[in-house]
Amino acid sequence: MARTFCVVGAGFSGAVVARHLASLGHRVVVVDERTHLGGNCHTERDGQTGIMVHRYGPHIFHTANERVWAYVQRFGQFRPYINRVRAIARGQVFSLPINLATINQMFRTTFGPAQARAFIASKADRSITNPRTFREQALSMVGPELYETFFEGYTRKQWGCEPDTLPASILKRLPLRFNYDDNYFNHPYQGMPEAGYTAIVRNILAEFAQRIDIRLGAAFEDMPETFDHVFYTGPLDRYFGFRLGRLEYRTLDFERFVSPEPDYQGTAVMNYCDADVPYTRIAEHKHFAPWEQAQFEQSVCFREYSRAAQAADTPYYPIRLTGEQPLLQKYEELARASTGVSFLGRLGTYRYLDMDVTIHEALLACEQIESILASNGAQALPAFFAPQP
Ligand SMILES: Cc1cc2nc3c(=O)[nH]c(=O)nc-3n(C[C@H](O)[C@H](O)[C@H](O)COP(=O)(O)OP(=O)(O)OC[C@H]3O[C@@H](n4cnc5c(N)ncnc54)[C@H](O)[C@@H]3O)c2cc1C
Repeated sequence: MARTFCVVGAGFSGAVVARHLASLGHRVVVVDERTHLGGNCHTERDGQTGIMVHRYGPHIFHTANERVWAYVQRFGQFRPYINRVRAIARGQVFSLPINLATINQMFRTTFGPAQARAFIASKADRSITNPRTFREQALSMVGPELYETFFEGYTRKQWGCEPDTLPASILKRLPLRFNYDDNYFNHPYQGMPEAGYTAIVRNILAEFAQRIDIRLGAAFEDMPETFDHVFYTGPLDRYFGFRLGRLEYRTLDFERFVSPEPDYQGTAVMNYCDADVPYTRIAEHKHFAPWEQAQFEQSVCFREYSRAAQAADTPYYPIRLTGEQPLLQKYEELARASTGVSFLGRLGTYRYLDMDVTIHEALLACEQIESILASNGAQALPAFFAPQP
């Protein structure tokens, strides 16, 4: 029996689910309060320069998940792209993540891999056997010099709090290399969509367009209709009218500027680690599409500032510190006690998710949705599909 569903959010989570529901013969209304598809991954041509920009911050597609890699390539061509990050700290330009070049430059040494490994081990604070905070984790891994240069100021700016109030798990994810490999990611598949991410999302929705009604610039809260079920990829607390309080997020401010030089900083992303520089990084967007950069005479860049999100701000990074857990659990209980709605994606589940994880979870959700609809009907759809950490 064909049903009518609502998918709130036209990012990757919403698009993957909407496509699948439509492919099963159902009618789907996709609603997004933004005036474009793509959610936070949205890319568009800059009006002044014509350069493709990542409006909500740089997005590099990287994954080890073959299913996801095959899936996204069905909807657009990906060009090879390696994310190489540079960082300005204490008057020098370094390579990140910390690798042999970073170590040798920092300590004015000419170490090979084994010497560098032994040297960093001698710097590491061995009195910290069970690191609990970000600061302890960093000191126990790399010692004080690298911690203070690359992590201390940057972390304060990014998270708005002291590194010894953040969990150690944040740093466990950052690679430390004893060779000259400066690829920021370890994943085997990495690339950039030739026509941008929004084109990929548009193509995901295109094949079954006759059953997908896309409404942009419209908030779910203002919709008059009712649906057989709602798949909600917006903020979990917002769905419930923030009735228990607000989950905390970091938001970003982007300060756009156009450089008259064709190449402003020589690379896509330059981090600024020092605490006295107010922004965290500068993204120069033409470098995300090196195959077309020669066409543009100018260059468009975004300075990125991080701060605590207020009610009217766009939520970017869920803070998810220990203090947030009781409120999150209460919202999760509320969600499980509700009917007619399932929560997906980074905002719906209040987790930081990379694009590949977002798509993977949405594909797994589609499998569950299909089998539940085939057997019991929409009433049995769960509040959450992804395992809650
Ligand atoms: C600065 C930054 C950089 C990132 N860089 C990378 C990267 O390099 N690589 C990577 O893999 N991942 C990256 N990510 C993560 C990536 O952005 C997410 O994986 C992805 O956006 C998740 O997609 P989503 O569909 O779950 O959510 P979103 O893309 O956020 O989509 C949710 C949509 O729902 C809409 N919405 C919410 N509530 C309502 C409502 N009530 N009514 C109507 N519409 C609503 C919003 O407008 C939004 O468009 C980055 C994230 C950030 C913040």
